[in-house]
Amino acid sequence: MEIERHEYDVVVIGAGGAGLRAAIEARQQGKRTAIVCKSLFGKAHTVMAEGGAAAAMGNVNSDDNWMVHFRDTMRGGKFLNNWRMAELHAKEAPDRVWELEAWGALFDRTKDGKISQRNFGGHEYPRLAHVGDRTGLELIRTLQQRVVALQQEDFETHGDHEAYIKVFAECTVTRLLKDGDRISGAFGYWRETGNFLLFDAPAVVLATGGIGKSYVVTSNSWEYTGDGHALALLAGANLINMEFIQFHPTGMVWPPSVRGILVTESVRGDGGVLRNSEGKRFMFDYIPEVFKDKYATTEEEGDRWYNDQANNRRPPELLPRDEVARAINSEVKAGRGSPQGGVFLDVSTRLPAEEIKKRLPSMHHQFKELADVDITAEPMQVGPTCHYIMGGVEVDADTGAAAVPGLFAAGEVSGGMHGSNRLGGNSLSDLLVFGRRAGAGAAAYVDGLKARPKIDQELVDAAHEEALAPLQRDGENPYEVHHELQRTMNELVGIIRKAEEVSEAMEVVEKLKERVRQVGAAGSRIYNPGWHLAIDLRNMVLVSECVARAALLREESRGGHTRDDFPGMNPDWRRKLLVCSTADGGDVQVVEKIQPSMRDDLITLFDRDELKKYLTDEEMAEFDGIAK
Ligand code: FAD
Repeated sequence: MEIERHEYDVVVIGAGGAGLRAAIEARQQGKRTAIVCKSLFGKAHTVMAEGGAAAAMGNVNSDDNWMVHFRDTMRGGKFLNNWRMAELHAKEAPDRVWELEAWGALFDRTKDGKISQRNFGGHEYPRLAHVGDRTGLELIRTLQQRVVALQQEDFETHGDHEAYIKVFAECTVTRLLKDGDRISGAFGYWRETGNFLLFDAPAVVLATGGIGKSYVVTSNSWEYTGDGHALALLAGANLINMEFIQFHPTGMVWPPSVRGILVTESVRGDGGVLRNSEGKRFMFDYIPEVFKDKYATTEEEGDRWYNDQANNRRPPELLPRDEVARAINSEVKAGRGSPQGGVFLDVSTRLPAEEIKKRLPSMHHQFKELADVDITAEPMQVGPTCHYIMGGVEVDADTGAAAVPGLFAAGEVSGGMHGSNRLGGNSLSDLLVFGRRAGAGAAAYVDGLKARPKIDQELVDAAHEEALAPLQRDGENPYEVHHELQRTMNELVGIIRKAEEVSEAMEVVEKLKERVRQVGAAGSRIYNPGWHLAIDLRNMVLVSECVARAALLREESRGGHTRDDFPGMNPDWRRKLLVCSTADGGDVQVVEKIQPSMRDDLITLFDRDELKKYLTDEEMAEFDGIAK
């Protein structure tokens, strides 16, 4: 069978914010760059991002700066973040937002004409640069426009728009190719025709996003099947922090067909409050010890904060997402939920109708169209939804390089930056900061190569055979296997976990692994969604295995990982990262790794009293030595 062949310097897999920013960088550094995406060009998760991009520009509160952002990010991640990534992110995010503006992004403005910034959970100051509640759309539009501008430059110089940057849309990568231990390219197929293609390239940047489609209730759409996570693992790279999954506190719960769709945190950032069936603002009962001094203890103080942040503490509705999601879960379990199994999120009694329509146009539209609820007149019903994975490919902070030479990762597919829990708004800025760095890292890697790696035909044949296999079997229905996986992960490795349930999930996943090898897809290769799902299942099951194994091992509750049988953070786990690999090319192995100590100039940005809440006695002794 004929396999199309394309030669590039850098292949970027994924056309969301991370992929586009990486591709722009690689092209700007003179590399012939392919952008491959399995959805339509422009349809990535980044488009769905509503609230904004976090960057300490200090436009709304001039007390904000990179150090405050760094501290907030580390606190949000419960100190398990790769602190070098958190540092780079906090320092570089403002430049990346201003760069977007220079490339044509139209952000909302403050009264004095600066880029406006809004409040979000866990951020000490208003920090999210935004475009109403459609920020991701503007981000993607701007980056795409930048790609087109570069293509126009290339046309003028080389007479070919696609001489240096070409988009391969609706094209799924199923395997990374290697020459010995180095990357040599990638193998995939066109979704429309089912025809195969391979990229001959020494550097690959993974920017494939998350894994949400392994769960039934999720804010994620169909492309989030953990492909990049699995591709990296199968190529010999490591995944870290896979037990940490963010359940966004506010997904729609009704009607069932739209369950899980996101209700942006901006609703709370702009004044919305959470109430239980008794009408109580219950979040005041759920302020954890570590956050006690930072959050209001009365409704009056919380309400005053919206207009006077210098003299009041934030309302607890703006606690980090893991705290709010757990609180909602507890209220529902205690029988104080809304009729359809969520709680009430009310903005209608908090802002004038016109203001709601202006600040939250997508939310107004979404609820009117999908649930026949007018959010200017009545409360929404909301509950937790699987939203984001903090875990991902272990990378070098500065370059995005993974353990496999030639492999880079950025955006949601990479791990480390957000530790055990991501703050809202920190993903869009992460995509820009680390997308650029991974693109630059890949370009520098290519420059340093003495010889171009070669394509190994045996690996191509194996990838080809693997992709075709489901079409050649009269096997099990992939949709049924998918539903069982989703139910298992939702019910047994969901927001609250316990050893027996996670072990049970691992047994199911083990059986599903075998069943995935047997799934069949009826029909031909021409636009065949059953076949596409059969291929994606390998990735979802592999990634679910990593999540479950790591979740069972981590016997504590931290950030996006809550163990009913081990409540609270445990100092023994404080510095441990769990690293997943398939070292022998077979089963997933998980090993512990100690997080490196934070640099002296970074650790001393925190107050001793605060550090005591997180760090071990040993670390505190080290800190006292430094702070002397
Ligand atoms: P994506 O934007 O998802 O792009 C992934 C790309 O990879 C796609 O082009 C896809 O087609 C491609 N791909 C995947 N697998 C393959 C494959 N095998 N072969 C080829 N291509 C492949 N974050 C914030 O900071 N602020 C917000 O306000 C915010 N709001 C959000 C709202 C919603 C509803 C959701 C779901 C998320 C939100 N997030 C927000 C999170 C944020 O949007 C995502 O984490 C981020 O956009 C991920 O970007 P990415 O570039 O890593 O991946």
